[in-house]
Amino acid sequence: MPAMWKLFTREPIHDPLAPPATEPVTEIKTTTCYMCACRCGIRVHLRDGELRYIDGNPAHPLNKGVICAKGAAGIMKQVSPARLTQPLLRKAGSERGAGEFEPISWERTFEILGERLAKIRSTDPKKFALFTGRDQMQALTGLFARQFGTPNYAAHGGFCSVNMATGMIYTIGGSFWEFGGPDLERARLFVMIGTAEDHHSNPMKMALGKFKRAGGRFISINPVRTGYSAIADEWIPIKPGTDGALFMALLHELIASDLIDHAFLKRFTNAPQLVVLDEGEREGLFAFDPDPAKGPPGDGRHPHNKLIWDAAGGRVLNAYPEGIADGCDPALEGHYQLDDGTRVAPSFQLLRDRVAPCTPEWAAAITGIPPERIKKLAQELGDTALKQAFELPIAWTDAWGKRWPTTQGRPVAFHAMRGLAAHSNGFQTVRALAVLMSVLGTIDAPGGFRHKAPYPRHIVPNYRAFNDPSMIKPNTPLNSAPLGFPANPDELAIDADGAPMRIDHAFSWEYPLSAHGLMHTVITNASRGDPYRLDTLMIFMANMAWNSTMNTMAVREMLNRKDDKGEYMIPFLVVCDAFQSETVAFADLVLPDTTYLERHDVMSMLDRPISEFDGPIDAVRVPIVPPLGECKPFQEVLIELASRLKFPAFTTPQGERKFKDYPDFIVNFELTPGEGYLMGWRGANGDQHLNGAPNPKQWEMYAKNDCVFQYHMPEEMRYKRNWNRAYLDFAKAHRWRQRNDPIQLALYSDALQTFRLAALGKTRGRKPPEHLRQRIATYFDPLPFWYPPLEEDATDCVAFPLNAITQRPMAMYHSWDSQNAWLRQIHSHNYLQVNPKVAQAAGIADGGWCWVESAWGKVRCMVRYSEAVEPGTVWTWNAIGKADGAWQLAPGADEARKGFLLNHLITDELPQPGGRSISNSDPVTGQAGWYDVRVRIRPAEPEEDEVSSPQVATVGAMPGVRGRGEAPLTYFAGRKRP
Ligand code: SF4
Repeated sequence: MPAMWKLFTREPIHDPLAPPATEPVTEIKTTTCYMCACRCGIRVHLRDGELRYIDGNPAHPLNKGVICAKGAAGIMKQVSPARLTQPLLRKAGSERGAGEFEPISWERTFEILGERLAKIRSTDPKKFALFTGRDQMQALTGLFARQFGTPNYAAHGGFCSVNMATGMIYTIGGSFWEFGGPDLERARLFVMIGTAEDHHSNPMKMALGKFKRAGGRFISINPVRTGYSAIADEWIPIKPGTDGALFMALLHELIASDLIDHAFLKRFTNAPQLVVLDEGEREGLFAFDPDPAKGPPGDGRHPHNKLIWDAAGGRVLNAYPEGIADGCDPALEGHYQLDDGTRVAPSFQLLRDRVAPCTPEWAAAITGIPPERIKKLAQELGDTALKQAFELPIAWTDAWGKRWPTTQGRPVAFHAMRGLAAHSNGFQTVRALAVLMSVLGTIDAPGGFRHKAPYPRHIVPNYRAFNDPSMIKPNTPLNSAPLGFPANPDELAIDADGAPMRIDHAFSWEYPLSAHGLMHTVITNASRGDPYRLDTLMIFMANMAWNSTMNTMAVREMLNRKDDKGEYMIPFLVVCDAFQSETVAFADLVLPDTTYLERHDVMSMLDRPISEFDGPIDAVRVPIVPPLGECKPFQEVLIELASRLKFPAFTTPQGERKFKDYPDFIVNFELTPGEGYLMGWRGANGDQHLNGAPNPKQWEMYAKNDCVFQYHMPEEMRYKRNWNRAYLDFAKAHRWRQRNDPIQLALYSDALQTFRLAALGKTRGRKPPEHLRQRIATYFDPLPFWYPPLEEDATDCVAFPLNAITQRPMAMYHSWDSQNAWLRQIHSHNYLQVNPKVAQAAGIADGGWCWVESAWGKVRCMVRYSEAVEPGTVWTWNAIGKADGAWQLAPGADEARKGFLLNHLITDELPQPGGRSISNSDPVTGQAGWYDVRVRIRPAEPEEDEVSSPQVATVGAMPGVRGRGEAPLTYFAGRKRP
């Protein structure tokens, strides 16, 4: 009897004791999770070829078998009703956003794209732009853009955490998460600031558990106590955007109480190096030995001929090696004169002067943290770093040949992320944190901050971005990567008039150090044709018409904006996604992507590997199940297009296609001979690691080995890597670094000063346009400082007294999980979390509806009282609110009716003098200032609808979308449904 009819009889629906009709075939395959960016190893259990459940892989070095709710719920993502299944072309005559499409074949898709892209490439390659979201294949997407010849390429970093990356990399050569992190195994004190739930999710939770069990003390500093902070020993509430003031006050206290690591500062940082104080074109730069044999003058990349004042001998010496020779004592303080009369001072003296007025009382008025608590925190940090220091019995040799019999531990560890970064003062805030970590001597020290290969990079990294208009030529690859790390104004992507050359204005005078590009400005600029009209914009896996954009409603309008002739300002929009997000409806051409369980992927040392402190690790994904419908991995689309367009790197000298497909490309592509995407099982026989000739069986070897390769470096290379001779030589030999010179920590950044000098008109080279001079002169300060978020200049902070921020929920990763049937049971809508005192004062009940207003917009949403938020802040989970019908949610789903986006309150641009506007971003890096918005709240009127606002038109189902009609689970109580 069919199961359904059993409902109407007395016969049991399911007899658990009955033998299965046929013996199921069960199988376990290993791969790498992609339910968030943490990239844990997973085991996927299949029965009769169908997914049954997912658990953690105990053999995986990252998560050791641990899995989180998101990871386990991957099976529901695989069967999501929102899956796209075929390429779609917008119907002629229909409007963008209406979602009217016709299915087309892949061959037709490649014809359309190939023809269009070939024409652009042969005429003006910059008219093609490729921007990608939270993908993990930037080594391929970046190569594609470079080979195409367009500078208009970036991934999501500009609106994610580029302030964290650049602020740290320009100071210590590495950063948090993929690049480094807290050594909780040996730390005694752990300070987490500006982090709720993180990319490094499972490993962080595991490490925190061990740390706490071992008696470590965990302090969480955050406006909100959520996520990891649940197990903190102490929560110190702080006002958003003020962390930099706290760091400056901590530096003030540590320096005033002499709780700093003098020996470390003198040998391993630029603290003793002499800065020119006299006015002129060398003002604020390091003095250097003009002897050319000592190397070129400082440009932020070559620090080895700077000078110090030897207090023991009362003389000026070269910083290295003379200044660190036995018997010398590099001064950290004082004012001196060079032989030619130039006035100089150690950069540490300038730091000391800078933090002198930053008292705990000053910081208390900004941060809301009592001055006594700031003083106590400084004392705790200094005491733990210096008085609980320990030595590991690991001998090592530094870059200047000194043999150290042991490795010194400094058991104070920090971790920080977007809470610091997503402010328009984030770069200098992160710089301040990196300097704080440095004065305590914790960099790459046991118990402190530790790098992960291929970091540390040089300061400034040896990657110059595209910076010359003449590089853009028809049918020609760019001769440098679209992204990089400028060390001075000559490396900006500007034209002869100083105007931006990229569509996102990255690497222009507006945001000179925008190392990750500015994806959040692309649609705004392209819809204006600023600085030029694009032809084709390709967006991969980014929900730009909804939660990945500021000022969402305006951006939706921009996507539809037309010129006087009725042509779209962005003529052709290609969207590649696995799901029917809000953005897909705006596409002209839709490319249906695969899920992480259907494709090959690499997490490469050329990109974002999953390295741990003790050595590099790379990982792959292999297909567990076949792609749904006609879905095709975006990687395959790029390889196909690159081959059809005959990019040089994808074509043999005879003009033939070089790579059959993406797996073939991964195995056989070499950046330099022996250097490829994957470092495990290289060489013709698969017996070489790190470098070696391509191995045709490399994918098989990864598949057999849990999809991961780990290399354990010898113990003596695991610490102090900025200056560790063995490591520096090893890193160069394996091409993680171009040079093997030491990486001195840049407490004082002469690279920043070169931009400031240009703005002050003191140099002969490139200068910012008049309207940006003051901006550059102010924010390119070579020493860290705190300033209020830029939004506060444009907003009446009395009328809008509250800060509003978002956080990522533990159970969801951005917008990906709102179609996940299991995870929706945890969050199907979000509340505005408000301190009860504030909500009550506004007359809003717990669970009641309210209006949240900023100077830029308003939303209606529900309020939840929470004691776990400081009274000056309101917050919500990000990306849970959805457009009705998007993601194939049922009409009237909670996500659309009760969920809301804070994005509607955030402006994408801030007004500037002279009627101009500029992106609401950090003036140094272009990082989106998501967390700067100021708001006020008021109750909704009783007669108002109990529905979130704003609402948008319902999104209809795309042709071929899997939809809700299909029963996704084909098993019932252990047996396949008949
Ligand atoms: S932490 Fe992220 S990568 Fe790890 S199991 Fe959870 S979702 Fe997957």
